[in-house]
Amino acid sequence: MRVKPKMAFYWCSGCGGCEESILDLAGSLADLLARIDVVFWPVAFDYDYADLERLADGEILASFINGAIRTEDHAEKARLLRRKSRYVVSHGACAQTGGVVGLGNFFTTEEIVARLYRESPTVANPAGIVPRETSIDGGHELHLPPLCPSVKPLNGVIDVDYYVPGCPPTPELMQAALTLVIEGMLPAKGSVLAEKRSLCDTCARRDSKPEKLTVARFRRLTDTAIDPATCFLAQEIICLGPATRGGCRDRCIGANMPCRGCFGPPDGVTDQGARAISFIASLIGSNDPAEIAHAIGTIPDPAGLFYRYTLAASTLRGRAQGRTDG
Ligand code: SF4
Ligand code: SF4
Repeated sequence: MRVKPKMAFYWCSGCGGCEESILDLAGSLADLLARIDVVFWPVAFDYDYADLERLADGEILASFINGAIRTEDHAEKARLLRRKSRYVVSHGACAQTGGVVGLGNFFTTEEIVARLYRESPTVANPAGIVPRETSIDGGHELHLPPLCPSVKPLNGVIDVDYYVPGCPPTPELMQAALTLVIEGMLPAKGSVLAEKRSLCDTCARRDSKPEKLTVARFRRLTDTAIDPATCFLAQEIICLGPATRGGCRDRCIGANMPCRGCFGPPDGVTDQGARAISFIASLIGSNDPAEIAHAIGTIPDPAGLFYRYTLAASTLRGRAQGRTDG
């Protein structure tokens, strides 16, 4: 009988949506499970880390790892899976570029803990209790993994072979990536297993994207009637399609929402936020400082907009103040 390839799935710091992207295979999931031997998938099966330790190095054909590296435990498990796996596939935006989790790099660990456990308007914590790495409960010593000084994408701690983009990836992309692995049809190491071009190149509204456009101020979704057939930029609404990889099946555009960049940069672009800032700046057709300031002032939360999914993998990587790892 043919031996089925061993596969593993793991979840670091994320929302669980990437795990859903596997379950979203729906009917195909049963076919997938019939073709592989799942040796580790904590969210779905009751595995112990000791099960993973017992496997020989390289025994797993591929590990799909989603979520960013936020704790020392994530880094440790990623290194263990790297050792046990022939291929490591970065699964989703948080693993590829830090994702929304990476926005934590705008703050120090102390600021994040204070905000979450003391200052947030929805928190009632008069004693100011915060999680500790070690505590005693019922005579038992309990340990929480320490937070890393900053959020890192998966390739910030281990070598990564392939990337599946998206927040979360579409089921079609997951199906294609899993098929490539199982059938031994993988492209060159380091490839992103998706469309190579930008979203604008495949967008259903691309024919209405202006060749040349000058914007004096950007409109907001909340105070604009949006034409569902016209390019968002032509409507003076920021859309990150020019700086974002295609292959999402226009999920947001089709729902009449502009692209916010979750597929990360297309091939050939290393810093998605910088590319977005560059094309937005080119739209502001003025050399007058007051007019430029006015246009920029109509962009709420520019850092959070342009680096929503990629701050941890960007050139700046976040706010340096208070960080000890650069
Ligand atoms: S990439 Fe998106 S869907 Fe996946 S874990 Fe991160 S936030 Fe959730
Ligand atoms: S800017 Fe946005 S709406 Fe316009 S073509 Fe590109 S992806 Fe489509």
